[in-house]
Amino acid sequence: MAWNNLTQLQSRQFCCGFCGNVVAADRGFFQQNGSRKVYPCPHCDKPSFFDEYGNQIPGIAPGNEIGHLPKELETIYNEARRAVSVNAYTAAVLTCRKLLMHIAVQQKAEEGKSFVFYVEYLADNGYVPPHGKGWVDHIRKKGNEATHEIVLMSLSDATELISFIEMLLKFIYEFPGRIPVAK
Ligand SMILES: [Zn+2]
Repeated sequence: MAWNNLTQLQSRQFCCGFCGNVVAADRGFFQQNGSRKVYPCPHCDKPSFFDEYGNQIPGIAPGNEIGHLPKELETIYNEARRAVSVNAYTAAVLTCRKLLMHIAVQQKAEEGKSFVFYVEYLADNGYVPPHGKGWVDHIRKKGNEATHEIVLMSLSDATELISFIEMLLKFIYEFPGRIPVAK
């Protein structure tokens, strides 16, 4: 399973974009006369590339794993996270919106409404904690563009939305799934 012809490199600590572990690696590959390097992860063995500016590819997916998620929600939540790790921020935001609509409809919201409608629905029905109201206002502002516009999203737009969704998913799926069963 090990990589062939690894050479000794300067030790580098990084968060692996594949497995999410923070690792320290001192073996890998490098370019002659260049500062580009490839380090296989000591934990999962998959290779991360570092360019001459120190950029890491694949990047780190924001957010954390969530327990007790239905399979399709888990898949789409992780897709949004991975999209951020490859700088596909607009794709990540669109995926997050799809996910929010899906969550709201599962919580009995009407189908075929706007993104903002669903964010407000979740807030109005107690799915957002009391001090999370600022999030809702922020996301409402962000989400209010007309459908015929193409609005490019940034890293902070995508990571904010993923944090919001992470909170909701924990609240709606993970915590209820962890309640001890009464004997
Ligand atoms: Zn790894």
